[in-house]
Amino acid sequence: MAQAGYDFFTAEAYCGKDRKCRVCGSDCLLAQDMFGPTGFISSMVNRLSYHNEFMCPHTNKVWHKKALQIAVALDKNPSPRIAELMKKDIENLLHDNLC
Ligand SMILES: [Zn+2]
Repeated sequence: MAQAGYDFFTAEAYCGKDRKCRVCGSDCLLAQDMFGPTGFISSMVNRLSYHNEFMCPHTNKVWHKKALQIAVALDKNPSPRIAELMKKDIENLLHDNLC
């Protein structure tokens, strides 16, 4: 499952922007003029709007799910030495699956 801010993004309709996946760096796929909530809060208050959605083309692949888990944990990790190991784990996953 995609995670907002990592491999899933929303933007105003017709904004003309491109997005890259924060996990693997791939260009995200664009779905234009979607109608619905743009996040958790807008969903809770039933605020619907037209917007664009961007999702990484690798989101549903097992290796990408592992890399996403590491990337999310990395952002919460306070240890620089452990962070280096986690970055290497992500690099290895990308090297094995994107090259
Ligand atoms: Zn990705």
